[in-house]
Amino acid sequence: MNLGIIGGGQLGRMIAMACYPLGVRATVLEPGSGSSASQVCDHIAGEFDDLQALYKLVQASDVVTFEFENVPVESARWLAERVPVFPPARALEVSQERFAEKQFFQSLGIPTPPFAAIENEADFHAAVADIGLPAVLKTRRFGYDGKGQAVIRTPADADAAWQKLGGRPLILEGFVPFDRELSLIAVRGRTGQIVTYPLIENVHIDGILHRSIAPAPNLGEELGERAAEFASRILTELNYVGVLTIEWFQDGPRLLANEMAPRVHNSGHWPIEGALTSQFENHVRAVCGLPLGRADAVGSSAMYNFIGTAPPALAVLANPDAHLHLYGKSARPWRKVGHVTLRASNAAELQEKLPEWDAQFPRGG
Ligand code: AMP
Repeated sequence: MNLGIIGGGQLGRMIAMACYPLGVRATVLEPGSGSSASQVCDHIAGEFDDLQALYKLVQASDVVTFEFENVPVESARWLAERVPVFPPARALEVSQERFAEKQFFQSLGIPTPPFAAIENEADFHAAVADIGLPAVLKTRRFGYDGKGQAVIRTPADADAAWQKLGGRPLILEGFVPFDRELSLIAVRGRTGQIVTYPLIENVHIDGILHRSIAPAPNLGEELGERAAEFASRILTELNYVGVLTIEWFQDGPRLLANEMAPRVHNSGHWPIEGALTSQFENHVRAVCGLPLGRADAVGSSAMYNFIGTAPPALAVLANPDAHLHLYGKSARPWRKVGHVTLRASNAAELQEKLPEWDAQFPRGG
């Protein structure tokens, strides 16, 4: 079996690494050379809308997947006429546009923050009056890691936000005074089998994921079941195949959907060591038509991102709970260059060790 992967970042790299034990050969499509993923598998150099490069990928692949959600939808559809492409192009379409995404959640009865589409300044003022402050103004497309957003707390902020972002399609959302952010990784196989990982607690700094804890502490069963049920509505509606990630705000007993990513996710790295099957292996199994593996957590895990630069391996691994992952990327501000997962036997041990781990792995920059 040959798997084509669109995108050569660390997610593509970890998908490719999960292919090896399954006897699947991975080929990555990525414009440059020497990318994180192309260091560990075959590589086709080309832009994501270059038909010649896409044709080469078709020839090298029995099935194609992608590692980021801004793959041009036309490329995914063009490929899908020639080779199976999972997840489906419609999942890309929905998740590339924040307004379409929120409407999609709403159509499935999944709660979201209040939101309104903004095309012009009049819409903006009407939406601010309607939704009230505080609120968050976001670009509808190509926002990631908190980019293309402005929090509005006062009327003066509203003017500044409009100056910064106005002139393109936007969405205004009510600001959720959330207790914490959670994410859910779910996977659906080609036969419709669904497996769901436990809910994960995430801390973002400057819009970039800093730390994930799994399973999310002090959760109660009901919230996890509700999130899994919401996920299965999305997976079924899209006739989805592969890993899907949904990011949530927890506000007391409320669970509000923030966004979804039709791909493996940074908050799902911990299962490489911390669950019975990693998200990457389950993604490869799903898209290749293989049965899925169990997603139960084994003990509790904390994952920290290395942003900008990574500490020396010697220092990280001096901690016997630590498992280090480096992505083969050079140091650069704001760049995710690696992560570490620390494992504890159970939730109590994790809580006991967390202050020490937090101190050992502060947010880089
Ligand atoms: P996003 O790119 O939509 O995931 O937003 C990045 C981060 O901004 C989120 O992880 C939240 O911390 C924060 N954020 C986004 N939308 C809202 C909202 N409606 N209310 C409160 N915080 C938000």
